[in-house]
Amino acid sequence: MLWRHAQEQYLSLRQQIEPNGATLIAVSKTWPIEAIEAVYEAGCRDFGENKVQELVEKQSALPADIRWHLIGHLQRNKVKYIAPFVHLIHSVDSKELLLEIQKQALKNNKIQKVLLQAFIAAEETKFGMDFIELENLIADQAFWDALPNIQVEGLMGMASFTDNQNQIIEEFTALKGRFLSFKSEYITPKFTWKTLSLGMSSDWALALNCGSNMVRIGSSIFGKRN
Ligand SMILES: *Cc1c(COP(=O)(O)O)cnc(C)c1O
Repeated sequence: MLWRHAQEQYLSLRQQIEPNGATLIAVSKTWPIEAIEAVYEAGCRDFGENKVQELVEKQSALPADIRWHLIGHLQRNKVKYIAPFVHLIHSVDSKELLLEIQKQALKNNKIQKVLLQAFIAAEETKFGMDFIELENLIADQAFWDALPNIQVEGLMGMASFTDNQNQIIEEFTALKGRFLSFKSEYITPKFTWKTLSLGMSSDWALALNCGSNMVRIGSSIFGKRN
């Protein structure tokens, strides 16, 4: 079986990750339908994609009980394509995007779950909001009151692309600290504070140690992407 290795990797990772109370998302971007089917057969129901068009094509070809996670940057004009089915949007980084998600969630008669993407890396290239922008957004009660079809489940972050484990730990720990302070300060039905999405193939074990409860793993399951 062509994708047996991916199945084995998925099962092995799940055994290490789930006992920590964390959810494993299989990041299937760039991989074909057959690869996703194989990992689905092994029991996975949470898959992550970073491009809207690829996500839409895969969703229509795969079982309806998959929970699809949009983990990449999302443009406002593309929200409408994923709104009917997307389970969790990890990459929310602006008020304008939230307003569009509200509009499309209303059209689809659903409550859309989202995570706010925090910027924690040293590089300039990563998307997300810094801690001040996040706090200002979360504290804007009047803004949230206008978004009845959105529920914020928590935060997502990506550490710097570096071999320096101490730096990664510092970035993860800072975000966990913010997560906990938001959680204790903003207790409203709008914010459930259930999810901290942190960790990828290279750093998921560090992320779990730092308090992540959702990891997004691609290459360690499916192989190295081109
Ligand atoms: C691609 C991607 C991942 C998974 O990366 P791997 O190194 O392949 O595990 C996780 N999160 C985001 C946002 C991604 O774009």
